[in-house]
Amino acid sequence: MQSVLSLNGVTKFYGKIQALNNVSFSVPEGSVFGILGPNGSGKTTLLSIVLDVLKANKGSYTWMGGEDDGEVRKKIGSLLETPNFYHYLSAADNLAITHAISGRGTKEEIDTVLDKVGLLARKKSKFNTYSLGMKQRLAIGAALLGSPKVLVLDEPTNGLDPEGIAEIRELIKNLAKEGNTIIMASHLLDEVEKVCTHVAILKKGTLITTGSVDEVMINEDIVELGSHDKATLLTVLKTMPGYNSIKEELGFIQLTFSLGTANLSEINSYCFKNGIVLNHLRVKRKSLETKFFELTNQN
Ligand code: ATP
Repeated sequence: MQSVLSLNGVTKFYGKIQALNNVSFSVPEGSVFGILGPNGSGKTTLLSIVLDVLKANKGSYTWMGGEDDGEVRKKIGSLLETPNFYHYLSAADNLAITHAISGRGTKEEIDTVLDKVGLLARKKSKFNTYSLGMKQRLAIGAALLGSPKVLVLDEPTNGLDPEGIAEIRELIKNLAKEGNTIIMASHLLDEVEKVCTHVAILKKGTLITTGSVDEVMINEDIVELGSHDKATLLTVLKTMPGYNSIKEELGFIQLTFSLGTANLSEINSYCFKNGIVLNHLRVKRKSLETKFFELTNQN
């Protein structure tokens, strides 16, 4: 899979405050990529840098493998701050103004965009009659002018009620289905779990982990075990209580436990009592909940 965006050692200081510390990761094409972290972890700074709004002190990034810059920009739509729409103008007129000012898209495209964000039926309604969710969808519509292949959104559901949040989630999923790549910042674990395919987790400007949501966010403890006598180990483990599933993987035996219930000492002593000496025992992955708990707990 080609990467749409690659960051390499991006570092940013605001005076003495370090907002980003040597951050590197790649965004696969076609992914819904969540940048997850608590307030102040550097998400907005990171998005601002890759959108050329801010300059990094160190490090670099490339869009689409470093193609010609002018062309690449046209393929990126972004929503960093809520745009200033005119309250007494309709949605269609507001988008016409966005198009005229930014030069993105065409006048003819406005209805298509309004349809995509579910506002076509209300296109003539004044902006100030819209719910917060509709206003946010219009803002995403503005970012969609010019049919960008990549959409960058900063906290797209911030301040919305549950209905508005659900609508934005649906919209993001639909845009992804059409083959767009979506990069979004969020401080909500739940949101990232529900809409994202990939994630990068930031804590105080440092990348904690990155990968596919399945890899990173698995809601189980996974324990890997190995022994010279794997067949006997397997037989013994099948008599051990407490785990959810067992399988062989990459030369080891893998057990899954409900979140937070794997106890390596207990496993080790159970095996030893049953005549097995382990030569490999480790927790392979921590669940994201555990990771997120660690990262939101300061220090
Ligand atoms: P939030 O969700 O609250 O916006 P964030 O994860 O987007 O948080 P940033 O806004 O990127 O984080 O901020 C990262 C760090 O940089 C924070 O410590 C913040 O206080 C600091 N910071 C951000 N902008 C500035 C600025 N213009 N001047 C000084 N410090 C700043």
